[in-house]
Amino acid sequence: MMDELERLRRENQALNEQVKRLVRAERRLSLNRQELDAQLQRFRALNRFSLDAGEAETPERILELAMEGLFDLFPYEQALAFVPGSGPGRFRAGPHRFARSCGRSGNVSPDEITLDGELPRRPIASRSRALADSPLLPFLRIMEEMRFPESGQADDFVLMLPVIPAKAAFPALLVFRRRSPLSLLERLPEEEDFPFLQLVENHISSAIQNLVLFRDAQEAVRLRDEFLSIASHELNTPMTSILLLLQSLSRTSQRDGLERPQITRPQLEQLERQLRRLGSLVEQLLEVSRIRVGKLVPQYAELDLVAMIREVIQRFQPELSWTGSWVELRLPEAARVRADPSQLDQVMTNLISNAIKFGQGRAIEIGIEEQDGEWIIEVRDHGIGISARDQARIFDRFERAVSSRNFGGLGLGLYIARQILTLHGGRIEIESAEGQGSKFTVRLPGVRSARPGESRRT
Ligand code: ADP
Repeated sequence: MMDELERLRRENQALNEQVKRLVRAERRLSLNRQELDAQLQRFRALNRFSLDAGEAETPERILELAMEGLFDLFPYEQALAFVPGSGPGRFRAGPHRFARSCGRSGNVSPDEITLDGELPRRPIASRSRALADSPLLPFLRIMEEMRFPESGQADDFVLMLPVIPAKAAFPALLVFRRRSPLSLLERLPEEEDFPFLQLVENHISSAIQNLVLFRDAQEAVRLRDEFLSIASHELNTPMTSILLLLQSLSRTSQRDGLERPQITRPQLEQLERQLRRLGSLVEQLLEVSRIRVGKLVPQYAELDLVAMIREVIQRFQPELSWTGSWVELRLPEAARVRADPSQLDQVMTNLISNAIKFGQGRAIEIGIEEQDGEWIIEVRDHGIGISARDQARIFDRFERAVSSRNFGGLGLGLYIARQILTLHGGRIEIESAEGQGSKFTVRLPGVRSARPGESRRT
């Protein structure tokens, strides 16, 4: 009897243990399920973001989609994106903000923030008071203007998610904020959520990068097409003029019964001019292909810049007399440099021909002076000038700031000039204002300073 009782007691105990284990297992299962559900919800949100971001047309829209997605996953009350402002280290509040109570609302303060330092590399989740001495504080200040949902003042949780795409100059910062106390069921991101937030950042960065690369590619194709049409027009113009001249010569000689057609001096000059124009266009095209394949190698020789400039001006006498422009020179006796004579000639030819082309028949000033072992060459005109916005791009391939209907040119001269000068250890800068003329300044090492070709080899 006692044995039987003891056996039953043991069995009962074993059963109890089993029930406890089952309850624990069930609880674990349910927790795992919750965890799985949460993960599933995150990956669904990420997937939805990637699909929508692929359709976005601006980086700002991508950030907006990311804010919407994260707003759904975590119980923040405000979200605001900061995008690049007017200069390096400057940010402005993105076009849209979110506040849970009032949904998406319009523009925020136009003020810009200058970040003292760089954006953080990792997400920051903290209390706002912990950021009191941080250079990130001004980002929170701008958010103060946003309306918070009505709630007693309480804690203030902040999430800052930096977005730094590797291949696009578009660093941004997403800031989320929560002020009212969290309920038992609510949860904000913690350290263990950072890998997920990092994944989100990667998705946002690659979406922005893809968009920027796509837009660059579209722009490159547009520029190339435009260039092809300008180039065919530009090559055609001198050819047509030469053909017409030759035809008229042959007609005159037939009419006059002359064996050898008589060519007048102005006709000869016109022929020479058009052939020179054709030659220089073809030379520019060849030069660009040499630059592209790294074959623009200077053949250095010692030369006198002053003599070279005088020679180039001499070549442009006919153009100067048609346009009415004149050249005022401020040159030293000589200015010796080590350079590739034909490449440097191209640079000077381009600058002087532009000054004549865009100079509106006014004075062109050309000066050379020495400063700290460098020669400073200035070519200044008083013509149409270039707006600040265009100044940034005219040194790029195919870029022009004027319509091809009004002014000929391939948009390659300044690009080639800059490449040549860089190879020579020099540089070119521009100062200009629309309607007030332009000043191009070239700096080249004088003969006594290090020889660029040699210093590059060492
Ligand atoms: P292009 O052969 O078309 O003149 P460049 O590369 O030499 O090509 O110049 C690029 C563009 O820069 C020009 O199309 C013009 O818009 C602008 N530009 C260059 N030089 C001057 C100048 N002296 N004054 C005004 N605009 C200029």
